[in-house]
Amino acid sequence: GIVSRKIKKKFKNNEVLKGLSFSVNQGNIVFLLGPNGSGKTTWIRIALGLETKDSGDITFDGKKLEEVRDKISVVFDEPPIYPHLSGYDNLKILSGKTKINDHFTFDILSALNLTEELLQKKAKGFSLGQRHRLAVACALIRQGQYIIMDEPTVGLDYHGWEAVKKLLIKEKEKGKAILVTGHNYDLIEEIVDRLVIIANGVAVFNDTFENFKKLGLTNVTIKSKEDNV
Ligand code: ATP
Repeated sequence: GIVSRKIKKKFKNNEVLKGLSFSVNQGNIVFLLGPNGSGKTTWIRIALGLETKDSGDITFDGKKLEEVRDKISVVFDEPPIYPHLSGYDNLKILSGKTKINDHFTFDILSALNLTEELLQKKAKGFSLGQRHRLAVACALIRQGQYIIMDEPTVGLDYHGWEAVKKLLIKEKEKGKAILVTGHNYDLIEEIVDRLVIIANGVAVFNDTFENFKKLGLTNVTIKSKEDNV
């Protein structure tokens, strides 16, 4: 799985991550929960080599990013797409697959309601939700061993998210290590194995979702940094 060891990251004097450690085992869905600005996206960017870190390390089954890069599937909260290309061409490029006419792909596209009619159109005409569903499809079609999704509930409507949850359960059963980030667990709790809560740059909770429930914290309010001043 994915192992984060004591990741530290400062932007000027803003210490965002102060030693963030957690792991995502194979066959597990881990939910990384934290308020706006808590450093979830920063951690993901560091994991993917898009941002430098000050110290600590992130490994993938003991390997460095360079060795496993093509086994990582990621969905960003603002999905990058090629606006002038069709949905199909985006799918091919972003999933890294030249052939996308197999059963597996077909199942994903239909689960996400990405119709042939839509995919033939240029991506610049896609709504935000359609772009998100396209990004999720690309990540899943890529068949990475490690799946990272940054706030997927934000860009998807109820049906879209329900479909993604079902697809994630299938991926989990195949032994993938899956990390999903967000602000609240209402929409994801039924599929989560472990919960990691970030606050002030560290993991303040890191245990099974079952044990979190046993704490009986019914009304957890996750405040943003801005609320604390
Ligand atoms: P959200 O839920 O809003 O997506 P997040 O938990 O993903 O929040 P990050 O986007 O990682 O949080 O941001 C963490 C903090 O780091 C914020 O205070 C942000 O302003 C700061 N930050 C992120 N990237 C940079 C950067 N390139 N330069 C300076 N500060 C940055």
